[in-house]
Amino acid sequence: MNGRKLRALFQQFNAQYFAGKLPSYSIRAVERITDLGEDGFCNRRRKLIKILRSLSDEDAISCLLHEMAHAATSGNHGMPWKREMIRLREAGAPLVSTELNVELAVWDGTRVTRAHFRQVVQDALIDEPNISLSAAIRHFICTEGGPSTIQEFLRKFPWASTVFKAEKVAHAENASRVDALRANPR
Ligand SMILES: [Zn+2]
Repeated sequence: MNGRKLRALFQQFNAQYFAGKLPSYSIRAVERITDLGEDGFCNRRRKLIKILRSLSDEDAISCLLHEMAHAATSGNHGMPWKREMIRLREAGAPLVSTELNVELAVWDGTRVTRAHFRQVVQDALIDEPNISLSAAIRHFICTEGGPSTIQEFLRKFPWASTVFKAEKVAHAENASRVDALRANPR
């Protein structure tokens, strides 16, 4: 979906679901957000929303609403955002798949566990084996929630860098084992 259509939808949804209360945003249709393959991005400070151009209309619309819910709240995917998504769902907004099934009972975005962080890092390494600690934390914050800056994340969860390093080593060892098997098939 192109930027012009997305901008028109932003106006329409702002009036329809947010009582026109969202400030004006720059809305861009982009080829790529980061190497981790996010569908959308919202920066409240810069009043900027990016949506992946290649999404189907249905997914682009749902992603735009997801990002607009970020524009309306703080704390990433924490409670305020979840409440906003549930409000949109109940108002009949055209949400699809995971966006449609947001529940308050799931993680509230405040206390990050090692297991949760490890799982997200493992998934990220599959998409981007050379990812840095900062990029992994940024990805966690963007997709899962938690503190709003990398520094704050590391201050609150100082074990994150140890977990990250261990997963990166494990991933690299695993990858070289797979390469060796490919090179010398038995
Ligand atoms: Zn989000």
